[in-house]
Amino acid sequence: IRYNVLRWTSSPNPPFGGYGPSFVNPRTGQILGADIMLEYVYFTNRVKYEQLFDVKGASGLLANKYSCQAGAYLHQANLFGITAMNTLDGFDQLEQRRMIYEGLVKLTLHEIGHTLGLTHNFYASQLHNLKVIHERNTTEVIGLTASVMDYVGANVKPGHHGQFYSTIPGAYDKWVIQFGYTPSLHDLINEEERVKKLLSRSTQPKLGYGNDADDMRSPGKGIDPRVMIYDMTNDPMGYAQERMEMVKTLYKNLRQKYEREDQSYHALADAFYILNREYSTAAGVISRYIGGIYMDRSMVGQEGREVPFRPVPEDQQRWAMTLLNKYIFSPDAFSVSEDLYIYLQWERRGFSGTK
Ligand SMILES: [Zn+2]
Repeated sequence: IRYNVLRWTSSPNPPFGGYGPSFVNPRTGQILGADIMLEYVYFTNRVKYEQLFDVKGASGLLANKYSCQAGAYLHQANLFGITAMNTLDGFDQLEQRRMIYEGLVKLTLHEIGHTLGLTHNFYASQLHNLKVIHERNTTEVIGLTASVMDYVGANVKPGHHGQFYSTIPGAYDKWVIQFGYTPSLHDLINEEERVKKLLSRSTQPKLGYGNDADDMRSPGKGIDPRVMIYDMTNDPMGYAQERMEMVKTLYKNLRQKYEREDQSYHALADAFYILNREYSTAAGVISRYIGGIYMDRSMVGQEGREVPFRPVPEDQQRWAMTLLNKYIFSPDAFSVSEDLYIYLQWERRGFSGTK
């Protein structure tokens, strides 16, 4: 095998955003060839309509629960990032290109991770606090997340110019690769000692882990709110609240930014629903803390372990309810200015009808 390639595909109905097919020597498991496929549409601002209305946990995601949805989530994240940057002041075209570039690197790293045997790690977004997450001097060195195997949103914040996506493997990735790929020592006792030492590090916060078996992406699934897709920082509720505030601000300028003379209102409607989806995703992250239970799967006697099950502290659960009351259940939670709703009109395409 002389070449391992990144391949662009552009399919009418793309089944994936990116994936990493590989084949191995059946006798040794050695990877003989591996490529990364990247689907064009996931890096455009073209909207896949079925996704805008995809209720989290609806059939699509459950049916695919053992496959990689990183491309689809990256697409959602890119759409939000582009819409936000189009609407906010202070972000130019170059910044949008940087986001697409970082997204490509992130997705490629993620797919290579699968090829090398890594599963998802949805805990990895707990790495930084709300401030450091926007400081590129730190994140470019150690990543936005402790693993590229998480599904994350675009890290956009008004007035901040940090990284949108991780562009290097994180501490967790390196640790797992070390476990899987360091050649064994010849002496059995030394080898046992080496592996034991490596594994004993699992209680370090930056090596925290939770995959598809434990994640809370859909209601009724999982119990630990930290093992969640599309959340960010060690204060996911705070990050989600910032996101919802940003969306509320963006609504105000949406008509001004998206209405074009002699054009339909299609782009405006798209932009609104992209933002609305992001708002609902943020609410989902917050909701998981109510009744949530922190899990620890460390072994008996391991240094730094917690008890296996620990309820989320009561004040945090109450805070989650307070946020949901304000942003979802209060009478003015969706009080977008009236003259926005009446313009949310898509073009008729084929027999799609009035919506
Ligand atoms: Zn994946």
